[in-house]
Amino acid sequence: MRDALAGRDLLALMPTGGGKSLCFQLPALLKPGVTLVVSPLIALMQDQVRQLRDNGIAASFVNSSLPAAEGAQRLAQLLRGEYQLFYLAPERLLLPEFLTATLPRIAAGPGLNAFVVDEAHCVSEWGHDFRPDYRQLSSLRRRHPTIPMFCFTATATPRVRTDIIAQLELRDPAIHLTSFNRPNLHYEVRPKTKRSYAELAALARAGGAGIVYCLSRRRVEELAAQLQGDGVRAAPYHAGLAAELRRETQEAFIRDDLQVVIATVAFGMGINKPDVRWVVHYDLPKTLEGYSQESGRAGRDGDPAHCRLYFGAADIRTAEFLIQQKVDPETGEALEAEQRLGRQQLRQVRGYAESTECRRAVLLSYLGESFTGACGACDNCSAPKTLVDRSTEARQFLSCVARLAQRGERFGAAYVIDILRGARSERLLARGHDSLSVYGIGKQRSLADWRGLARSLAHQALVEETQDGFSVLCLNAESWRVLRGERPVTIARDAAEREPRAVPHPETADPAQGALYERLRELRKRLANEQGLPPYVIFHDATLREMALRRPLTLAQFADLPGVGQAKLARYGESFISALRQHPA
Ligand SMILES: [Zn+2]
Repeated sequence: MRDALAGRDLLALMPTGGGKSLCFQLPALLKPGVTLVVSPLIALMQDQVRQLRDNGIAASFVNSSLPAAEGAQRLAQLLRGEYQLFYLAPERLLLPEFLTATLPRIAAGPGLNAFVVDEAHCVSEWGHDFRPDYRQLSSLRRRHPTIPMFCFTATATPRVRTDIIAQLELRDPAIHLTSFNRPNLHYEVRPKTKRSYAELAALARAGGAGIVYCLSRRRVEELAAQLQGDGVRAAPYHAGLAAELRRETQEAFIRDDLQVVIATVAFGMGINKPDVRWVVHYDLPKTLEGYSQESGRAGRDGDPAHCRLYFGAADIRTAEFLIQQKVDPETGEALEAEQRLGRQQLRQVRGYAESTECRRAVLLSYLGESFTGACGACDNCSAPKTLVDRSTEARQFLSCVARLAQRGERFGAAYVIDILRGARSERLLARGHDSLSVYGIGKQRSLADWRGLARSLAHQALVEETQDGFSVLCLNAESWRVLRGERPVTIARDAAEREPRAVPHPETADPAQGALYERLRELRKRLANEQGLPPYVIFHDATLREMALRRPLTLAQFADLPGVGQAKLARYGESFISALRQHPA
């Protein structure tokens, strides 16, 4: 924020809903001129502009959803300096006419304050939403070198970060990292079995808006039909459906007319629905980054929400098959770099699913954040597990990595394990690694044991892996503490197959209160429909829950609820109080 005010370039990594809009609203208010915001999320512009106006900021937008005349009028107002903040889709901003005529006129007239690039990870092909046109945004820098650029993204991997800085030609940007930990999300992995569908249907019946992600359109259609057949208000969403139908589905979901959307990963990016209560991955996600984004669509209002992943061996075979299909369309030769990256991404997803450590720690370590200790809100933390001491084995493993490094050689975990277990492979013997002092010292442990240890060391950030597809190991400061015997290493003993436990659903915890809560939700829905608004705009779930708990019966008591300001008190207070009066305590 301070950097934004000082006019320095900025790269801010913050999870969605992390208050990023405030970061560019303030400079827009304090400095003269216009702040231009480039955002690919057309569906969200109107929402954001409405919120800004509610806060007294002169803001507007143009995008393809507006009639041409309306767009032209807003641009004229922009040129007259009537706006402090203006949203544009990248394709509009990159029009030659806009770049060469409109922009210089803004600069000469009301003045340019800053460029804000939202969803900046779209410039990186390492990110999950690569958009080639985003790269051309660097022309803003060349045309207006003195105007600061503020880039925002909810994608945190170091590789994407470096790419954003290079592609958009940021100059010594201030980098702001917000923690990606989302304490209100509960993480869980369940084996994919014959019971999985019944579990999913039960979750849907327990209530709350939910998203189910599947890998293929066919799966999406099948699952949607099955849930509908079982009485769930569910609809499919994938790129093969007509745009109009997709828009209707989105709208119905936001307005709570639909409870569940079954979708391919295309769903959710441009949707502002803070009260999604659960996200289920029915198939294995392609990347852990994608998983963190998609599961992160749950619980943006800060209320408890569930993220569940189904994991089965067949999914791994499918994923491996798809990776093998990555070939040059002309020569038919394998695209090795892409395949390598695909395999690493699959290993990471698998590592998460098979981990016996805290899921949150695994996800955060992948995003470059270290999270120590038990979170208490994932299946691994809440299910009792036995810890075993593996300090000796960890030292053997790490010292093997150290020996190789001394020789200027670096390998992945599989090769290190081969050395420790005294493998007689040609590759190993040819390199003379059978002469290392650590060769064969881990013979007595099984391959599975060693793999489990290696995975655990990576998850506990006791060894680093490169992100270039090779997963080459290197030591960090913590590895050396282990090697010096300064810190013990414990890992969870892999329970054969942990029985999935029922997690109490936040909305069904107290049946009496649950009924009142449902009643308040119905009222909110009715008021929302009357005004053509999404329900959460009236009150968030947290406000309704407090209402059910405290049962305010006067306007003064009602005003004390979280999320109730003067305007909402005046507009909705009486309606809710009379509903509360009718409900016996
Ligand atoms: Zn945990």
